[in-house]
Amino acid sequence: MRPAPVYLVGAGPGDPELITMKAIRRIREADVLLYDRLVNEELLAYAKPGATLVYCGKSPGQHTMSQRQIEALLIEHALGGRTVVRLKGGDPLVFGRGGEEALALAERGIPCEIVPGVTSAIGAAAASRIPLTHRDLAASFAVVTGNRCREDAAPIRWDLLAHGVDTLVVYMGIGRLDEIRTELLRHGKPPATPVALIERGTTDRQRVVTGALDRIHKLAEAMKIGNPALIVIGEVVLVREQLLLLEAQARLAIG
Ligand code: SAH
Repeated sequence: MRPAPVYLVGAGPGDPELITMKAIRRIREADVLLYDRLVNEELLAYAKPGATLVYCGKSPGQHTMSQRQIEALLIEHALGGRTVVRLKGGDPLVFGRGGEEALALAERGIPCEIVPGVTSAIGAAAASRIPLTHRDLAASFAVVTGNRCREDAAPIRWDLLAHGVDTLVVYMGIGRLDEIRTELLRHGKPPATPVALIERGTTDRQRVVTGALDRIHKLAEAMKIGNPALIVIGEVVLVREQLLLLEAQARLAIG
């Protein structure tokens, strides 16, 4: 029997309407659906009756199912001729380990299709009104993981990021905000650089906190910002403030 293809599918950043039509089609076709913690569970309603739903969620520091176990399960179901959808928060190839899963499948000769999703940086930036690029303010942005810091074998080059990129978006960084801030300041990022913390971006529980880089860790602590959250660092954060102000003024003028 030829193995069925496995679909590595992005579910988008949280708002269930930010999923693609192709992703919904693949979810509808699935016999087995393996989904992550960050996937909005409302999307599971698209699965056909009788489909097997498997939660593979990992909360930070705590693994429900190991990556190898997940890959073994994908392979087992595909070889059994079932249509498998691996549904991941955001985009499957942005800090989603989708590349590892694609490789594991390819090694077994199992075809795999990748359906992109709106990654949380893009979704959360839009939902909090921060343009990641903006004429005269930012001509580049980078997405970076915050869960590898100084002690790592291949450390993040904060020295280069502090100067080489206009807007930084840090995933998985809230728990290490103090270290990230220290690294950037140490490498000459101005203390007044605007920063936004976006918690549960695009969802109806989204919270956004903004402040200067040198005291952002204190603000995060005071506001109890928790996961999932993104850190956006750069002058573009000021555009949000400007937009909110203009929009408030417009409302007052109309009211
Ligand atoms: N593949 C995902 C990222 C997975 S890594 C994507 O493309 O978005 C998990 C990290 O993503 C979290 O620690 C957090 O930093 C970020 N994240 C995911 N969803 C988020 C959301 N709705 N709001 C803010 N950050 C989010």
